[in-house]
Amino acid sequence: MAKASAKRSTKRPSKADVEAIFAAFQKANPEPKGELIAPNAYTLLVAVVLSAQATDAGVNKATPALFKLADTPEKMVKLGVEKITDLVKTIGLYRNKAKNVFALSQILVEKFNGQVPADREALESLPGVGRKTANVVLNMAFGHSTMAVDTHVFRVSNRTGLAPGETPLEVELKLLKVIPQQYLFHAHHWLILHGRYVCLARKPECYRCVIAEWCRFEPKTPPPKDWDGAPAGRVAM
Ligand code: SF4
Repeated sequence: MAKASAKRSTKRPSKADVEAIFAAFQKANPEPKGELIAPNAYTLLVAVVLSAQATDAGVNKATPALFKLADTPEKMVKLGVEKITDLVKTIGLYRNKAKNVFALSQILVEKFNGQVPADREALESLPGVGRKTANVVLNMAFGHSTMAVDTHVFRVSNRTGLAPGETPLEVELKLLKVIPQQYLFHAHHWLILHGRYVCLARKPECYRCVIAEWCRFEPKTPPPKDWDGAPAGRVAM
């Protein structure tokens, strides 16, 4: 869960700086992708529900076996809570998550004809699905320009001064306002990957950051003695 205690820059990048930040992200990684493995909208929804307070890598270890048996809500309901629980037991909070996956699958079968709805209100009515999960599904499965604010997006938005805020919702609404329309669709992945691999929670690696020039965070982290001078790469921006 994102915390309001992330260090916040009081200065905001100018409009031209915001444009430059996203142009730099785009240049470094033109087609950013999420890291959860999910072959369709339904498995994506399940994977995102399972990923709450867990890493994508941890979820990806468990889900291939689960999705091999159940890649539709109908199959998941047939699998039953006990079997689902067993298959996801390596993921944190697995008992509750397994119950939610079963219950949301039942609702999809009964109320949504077995389909994942492309609608925020309907998504958020499902067990275990909050605003952030709905935003991820709307973005990745249905191509909407939504902004899912996880702990990485929250931190980067506050540090850079792009969208300082006390809560994920405040940051989300500010990001939607400040990011130029042409970058909105990919923005959530750029910010997540940036926070996950470069603008790290404990110590940001400013010396190899492609947006350092326009970021308002101070003081920037200097390069360590053994740094080879390589900027952040295509995946780890
Ligand atoms: S310059 Fe540093 S604080 Fe700013 S975005 Fe880059 S890594 Fe994060």
